Amino acid sequence: MRKTITLSLLSFLFAFTITAQQRSCGTMQDLENRMQQDSGLAQRMADIESFTARKVQELETSRISGNIITIPVVVHVLYRASSENISNEQIQSQLNVLNRDYRRTNSDRNNVWSQAADAQIEFCLAKVDPSGRATSGITRKYSSKTEWSSSANRMKNTSQGGVSPWDTRQYLNMWVVNKISGGTLGYAQFPGGSRATDGVVMGHEYFGSTGTAKFPYNKGRTTTHEVGHFLNLRHIWGDGACGASDYVSDTPSAEAANYGCSTNKSSCGSRDMVQNYMDYSDDACMNLFTSGQKNRMRAVLLSGGSRSSLGASNKCEATSTGGGTTSGGNCDRVAAYNSSTSYSVGAKVVSNGTLYQRTSSGWSNLGACTSTGGGTTSGDKCAGVAAYNSSTSYSVGAKVVSNATLYQRTSSGWSNLGACGSSRIGDDLDTGFPGDELKISVYPNPVRGNTLHVKSNNTNVPFTIVNMLGQRVSQGSNVSNGVNVSNLDAGLYLIQFRVNDTIKTKKFIKE
Ligand SMILES: [Zn+2]
Repeated sequence: MRKTITLSLLSFLFAFTITAQQRSCGTMQDLENRMQQDSGLAQRMADIESFTARKVQELETSRISGNIITIPVVVHVLYRASSENISNEQIQSQLNVLNRDYRRTNSDRNNVWSQAADAQIEFCLAKVDPSGRATSGITRKYSSKTEWSSSANRMKNTSQGGVSPWDTRQYLNMWVVNKISGGTLGYAQFPGGSRATDGVVMGHEYFGSTGTAKFPYNKGRTTTHEVGHFLNLRHIWGDGACGASDYVSDTPSAEAANYGCSTNKSSCGSRDMVQNYMDYSDDACMNLFTSGQKNRMRAVLLSGGSRSSLGASNKCEATSTGGGTTSGGNCDRVAAYNSSTSYSVGAKVVSNGTLYQRTSSGWSNLGACTSTGGGTTSGDKCAGVAAYNSSTSYSVGAKVVSNATLYQRTSSGWSNLGACGSSRIGDDLDTGFPGDELKISVYPNPVRGNTLHVKSNNTNVPFTIVNMLGQRVSQGSNVSNGVNVSNLDAGLYLIQFRVNDTIKTKKFIKE
């Protein structure tokens, strides 16, 4: 019955699409094009999928609440008419929508679905460009083009009239164009695709919640949806009939996309979650991600995930880089944390040599304090390390640079020591909130012997050691006699100490 559409209904639908365009997302078409052009993509995506499955299971079983992950964004505006050169205000309105939707502080949230979750992901316009200069996080460029094809991706290429992406390991690139061909509102590239085209694209009428944003797509949810794809979410109906999966366990199955706001729609034997950002409902109808979607997105951003460098990027910190003297570090003039002070959202404090910013639910780690003036900054950890050469035979412990990343040879392969350009090894990562009673440090680092010593005001601390793939390699219930690391291969590890509901993490190198 449902499949039998009469001629008159068809004419009605046709008339309807002329007056009110249906939501149409080009992400699956983009994936199909890429699969045809890139023979390695399927395998890379399968690898990401198996890592994600493991990581999601880990996130589901650990009841530790995660830290806020902040993603630096650059918006490239491509316009022909001056009205398409959207205002900074419209761009900021989109950032505000993303921050509300991914933190579940959107005013239209409700309790219809109990699995709705705060994804604990925030977005900021970049403050530092790829060459280290201060930036607004916005680029603007005129083009005579009246529309852009999603299959050609020319908006992402400077030599083809667009703007090439800023380093996609450090920035989420968003292109806002006058029009995408074929009535597409926006599209995204899934994790695993080419670095040259990574990011999301939206038409200006579907971007932000003011200015040229057009009803019923004027609440910024097109970008919320596309960024969901960028972070590995599929459409909630699994892009197929009942039984097709979106790889998320707590979303109901649905037979197809829903449009408008069909809140009473049921298919596949259950109520459809038309309010989910990954359906095709109108902006005003959408209001949630689920807990399962949250874990799936965070899996690509956390350690070992394919977008982990983006999750750790500090491009929203206006810090000076490079050698020479600095005019004051990021912690300059920031007061030390004081447990008896009440802090408002946005306030910054320094604790244990680390800068923190107050968020609506806790503290976000903005990274270690940088040089506080006078003196030179610490060197690039890749300085003096030779580039990888496939015809050289390397012994265990040898270091090389490849793709702007430092690697060290282990007995079984290569250990990733992180991106060049910053000296983050030995820095705290994902530490607990300032004011935690536990003080902890590990030594020697790097550790050459069998024992990693732990200095702490509490020896009854359970610990877990994970490798850079996020796999648990060791654990124990107290650290009074140090931690036996004799079984670990050479490489970089994280040791996590659990304190009540938070974890403290230290990096160490086994030599
Ligand atoms: Zn989509």
